[in-house]
Amino acid sequence: PSVKTPHNFNAGPSILPRSVFEEASRSLLDFNGTGLSILEIGHRTPLFEAVMDEAVALLRELMDLDAEQEVLFLHGGASTQFMQVPMNLLDSSAVAAYTDTGVWASKAIKEAKLFGGVDVVCTSKGDHYTHLPKDFTVDPSAAYLHLTTNNTIYGTQWQDLTPFYKAHVPLVADMSSDILSRRLDFRKFGLIYAGAQKNIGAAGVNVVVVRRDLLGKVQRTLPTMMDYRNHIENGSMLNTPPVFAVYVCLLTLRWLKGIGGVDVIEKENERKAALLYDTIDALPVFKPTVAKADRSRMNVCFVMDNPDTQAEFLALCQQEGMVGVKGHRSVGGFRASLYNALPYESVVALTDLMKHFAQKKA
Ligand code: PLP
Repeated sequence: PSVKTPHNFNAGPSILPRSVFEEASRSLLDFNGTGLSILEIGHRTPLFEAVMDEAVALLRELMDLDAEQEVLFLHGGASTQFMQVPMNLLDSSAVAAYTDTGVWASKAIKEAKLFGGVDVVCTSKGDHYTHLPKDFTVDPSAAYLHLTTNNTIYGTQWQDLTPFYKAHVPLVADMSSDILSRRLDFRKFGLIYAGAQKNIGAAGVNVVVVRRDLLGKVQRTLPTMMDYRNHIENGSMLNTPPVFAVYVCLLTLRWLKGIGGVDVIEKENERKAALLYDTIDALPVFKPTVAKADRSRMNVCFVMDNPDTQAEFLALCQQEGMVGVKGHRSVGGFRASLYNALPYESVVALTDLMKHFAQKKA
């Protein structure tokens, strides 16, 4: 290609391996030698059923799920799950426990309040979400306990999930920005949801993993499309599924399995994050924004004291082909996202640039 591939530090969507983009592109014109585009094959044909079945099977395998956990590919982004979860799991007379660790968590809280009681068991809002609030107790009668495993905007990530496992109520987790980036005991969760568009696939599809025995307990009548049980019964094909987005998930899951799975990518993600955080810690011109124990391996946030210097560094990143390093508008500074498919070499390039810049400013 004539255009050099940039180093993509964007927080989303779809930071995927080039090989996935290439194969997805080919399938737009000719899917598996059929002469048909992936966009025009019937979703109720054996051709697409094979795509869906393999994607589900690979996800089960990579996450090491048990037989009671159902895997769904649904529409609507993670934001739809903010309401679909309480609609299915929280009765109007019951209470769910929520941890407030950032913008996405608070959006989930807002939606849950439409359906039942919400007990916000901890928050770090007063400290601008720069750390995770670890001191919380959960009433054992809570319908479930909700957490955001990785807070994309602030760059915090729960490293130790023991306090959640100890709550002894069903765990519901938004894993949009760190799913399949590290080994967790996914069997400990009642429901996991993730917008697929960071580590797994293309925007337009959610992954939902839900324990069957949690469903069908609320009193309300659920709209057909909102009831997880209908999607389970219909193998995620209650209506037309986002065919292309699911196919891109399949390609990414095949890639992840091919390189050795979650354990291998976890080590690689640790290596990438360690290099970037070590560089930030070693260079006084850059300042980390998050408590050390809570640092995210997916989204690394840092700032500079001087706004002019900050703008200068951003311009330099742009010039050197590093895209998406600008921090989220609500935090400012920089955010480098290190999703699964971002190569280690990209982090080397960024940290070399940071060192060069710091030297110039010294
Ligand atoms: N939850 C988290 C942790 C996210 O990072 C995001 C988006 O970045 C969302 C939810 C919202 O996802 P969507 O845009 O798919 O609704």
